[in-house]
Amino acid sequence: MTLWQDDAARDLVRNAGPRLAMLTRGEGSYLWDEKGTRHLDFLAGIAVTSLGHAHPVFVDAVSRQAATLAHVSNYFATPPQLALAARIKRLAGAGASGRVYFGNSGAEANEAAFKLARLHGGADRPRILALENAFHGRTIGSLALTAKVQMRAPFEPLPGGVEHIPATIEALEAALDDRVAALFVEPIQGEAGVVELPEGYLEAARALTLKHGALLIIDEIQTGAGRTGEWFGFTSSGITPDAITLAKGIGGGIPIGALLTYGAASDLFTPGSHGSTFGGNPLATAVADAVLAEIENAGLVENAAARGAQLRETILALDSPLVEGVRGRGLLIGVGLAAPVANEVVAAAQERGLIVNAANPSTIRLAPALTIGDAEIAAFRTLFADALAAVAAASALGKATV
Ligand SMILES: *Cc1c(COP(=O)(O)O)cnc(C)c1O
Repeated sequence: MTLWQDDAARDLVRNAGPRLAMLTRGEGSYLWDEKGTRHLDFLAGIAVTSLGHAHPVFVDAVSRQAATLAHVSNYFATPPQLALAARIKRLAGAGASGRVYFGNSGAEANEAAFKLARLHGGADRPRILALENAFHGRTIGSLALTAKVQMRAPFEPLPGGVEHIPATIEALEAALDDRVAALFVEPIQGEAGVVELPEGYLEAARALTLKHGALLIIDEIQTGAGRTGEWFGFTSSGITPDAITLAKGIGGGIPIGALLTYGAASDLFTPGSHGSTFGGNPLATAVADAVLAEIENAGLVENAAARGAQLRETILALDSPLVEGVRGRGLLIGVGLAAPVANEVVAAAQERGLIVNAANPSTIRLAPALTIGDAEIAAFRTLFADALAAVAAASALGKATV
């Protein structure tokens, strides 16, 4: 037993299980632990380090902005904040009427979106719809939008009015009326196990929410910033939402969250109605602007699409009895397992120097940096095949198929 496990067990709040490793350094798609062991990182801090670790663009943006201006409060504007707001509006097709609110995390972006829904709904529209299995964050407001009972139960009562409905167009049609303020949706439910919406769902949701005067708010915290092989998970649907929320990958590792509003929804917040001391600070916004610029300039959205397809083919070609199918888009991938052995696969992978994640007991989630190429995919192939084979051999399923 080395010292760090003892320190962690004694000093950190027990809100999560034991830490998997003590990491000390990263470069590109690799991480090193305190023993000097190298790990191939196919999680990227849960879809956060879009450019990989210690990318020169990220390092330069942090260093230059820290040496220039790090924080001033929202009594003031700064050039990086305005540059990032303009870039997000452009990339997400918000047009001239779009507006951006900055926070420091995904949960804060969804808190702002929740308040946006309340401002829109007022007393006449107390209902808010979200989907079964939704994950929108862990603060009290964003937790009210999150479906998972185990996450919610200890913290009841949560803010009222939120109902979780099945992710079908029929269920939405049945649930919507003129007392609904907003519908919250993730284009792909990442935390639930990389689960896609039914074909045509976003288009139908747009038509139905317009019909009933409800806001359509899309949680792009995990799917945004090129992760799915397009700029945002909703991009290919061609719709215009009322708001999207962003975090994770837009910062490439610096904490930041954002709410982007479209059209009339941009008029809902008024002076004094919301705020955050750190939100939109020049350090975080300069880094996020540099990260998004690099994603644009280096063609990383296209790379995510191409490498995602390559990765899917690679996984299916392993022909493992444990792999039932591959879900997701671009570089947000869920490997469906034929048995609830995701934790065993994660452990076997880690022993071999590969970091992947168990999104649920029968799904391995992959969310590598958007910069991965042939070398990373080849290294992943070897390590993942080996981990799957070890788990298959140890499980009844493996024996049954021999
Ligand atoms: C991660 C995530 C959140 C919460 O973001 P935090 O930064 O952890 O607060 C919300 N929604 C989705 C879809 C996420 O993936």
